[in-house]
Amino acid sequence: MKVGIIGLGYIGSVTAACLAEAGYEVVGVDVDESKVNSLLNGAPIVYEPNLKELLDKNKDRLYFSTDYISLKDAEIVFIVVGTPTKDKKIYLKYVEDAVLSLKNINKNAVIVIKSTVLPGTAKRLMEMSGMKIISNPEFTKEGSAIEDTLKPDRVVIGGDDKEAVSRVKKLWDFTNAPILETTNENAEMIKYASNSFLAVKISFINEIANLCEKVQNCDVDTIAKGMGFDKRIAPYFLKAGIGFGGSCFPKDTTAFISFAEQFKENLKIVKSALEVNDDRIKRVMGLIKISLEGKERKKVGILGLTFKANTNDTRASQAIKLAEMLNLEGYTVNAYDPMANININWINRYKSALECVENSDLVVIATEWDEFKNLNIYGKKVIDMKGILNKTNADNLIKIGVYG
Ligand code: NAD
Repeated sequence: MKVGIIGLGYIGSVTAACLAEAGYEVVGVDVDESKVNSLLNGAPIVYEPNLKELLDKNKDRLYFSTDYISLKDAEIVFIVVGTPTKDKKIYLKYVEDAVLSLKNINKNAVIVIKSTVLPGTAKRLMEMSGMKIISNPEFTKEGSAIEDTLKPDRVVIGGDDKEAVSRVKKLWDFTNAPILETTNENAEMIKYASNSFLAVKISFINEIANLCEKVQNCDVDTIAKGMGFDKRIAPYFLKAGIGFGGSCFPKDTTAFISFAEQFKENLKIVKSALEVNDDRIKRVMGLIKISLEGKERKKVGILGLTFKANTNDTRASQAIKLAEMLNLEGYTVNAYDPMANININWINRYKSALECVENSDLVVIATEWDEFKNLNIYGKKVIDMKGILNKTNADNLIKIGVYG
């Protein structure tokens, strides 16, 4: 079966590689020529562990183009374009453009929406295009996206057209994951409810971390471990940190809150999760100000600029937000990140973590890259917002969620 993918960013390129690995012939289309060329050259712009290797291994079953004509005989076409939030509302132009462009070339294809879209979107797109549309939200995490796609916890397939649903179901059979068949709207809502719940979980443990910092002999990692043994709670997403960022949680929770407001429903818990998240940066800023008070040179080194480790994605990164606030307040911002795909002229980027540390008065660990776990930093204040160092690595350490 020939499968098409529209949108070859973080998720589309991984989906393409994984479906090719499963034996399908895959055609990927993107309007961004640089992304297509990078994939044709076997050097993807997006960094995801093992992506390059998987694309290389399956190159005989993969084809990439900027021209929609290459999708003319695809039976199933995934739409994996961006769905940003603008003015607190979901922005659907990229999805609509993709559907209409495909309709002009191949109106018999079954469209599978992987992009995160609000309930009711698939129905509206069906009315607009007259095409069959299945909702199949994506739950992978950047940094382990390949593993998550090949072995997902579940596959959710929403749609009314039985034949189309069964085609998509068959396509994902190779994963052996439980499959939930449901309505388009349920499938769409499951994605937002899941992301919102995970955002809440992160903000919850971050508030507990704040409290642990004030209560003698408490540390948040032990609290999280003790909570996580409980099957009703589970240990995942209970790691205190600098707050959530990336291309999903901030934008999806914001869009979900506005969506609920249209129905006069107030998602108070989700709103609080966002509020707690915004406060993370203010909290680090407070610590930095106290630590550097009275110092003449105020150079802050940020270790890690991506929104998490094992990606080069800096979208809505809390580390970048911290850098922006530091810059606004007149600090010199130094940084080191092994992968971050961003160039900001007022950030002094260093080639190694140690070089960045040497040139800074204070260091903030903002991303849990493995290489930071073995750093030894003596004689300098370190604010470890990822909880990866201990007093033997750094003699002047403020560790998130630990008393004292
Ligand atoms: P991305 O920005 O990395 O990639 C989107 C791609 O779509 C870009 O390369 C862009 O050029 C392309 N595009 C835009 N309009 C197009 C068009 N009309 N035709 C062809 N290509 C077009 O986005 P992403 O991070 O891969 O996310 C894609 C979707 O998946 C979003 O809805 C996102 O919310 C969802 N999602 C993302 C993640 C994640 O971790 N990144 C996880 C789950 C779900």
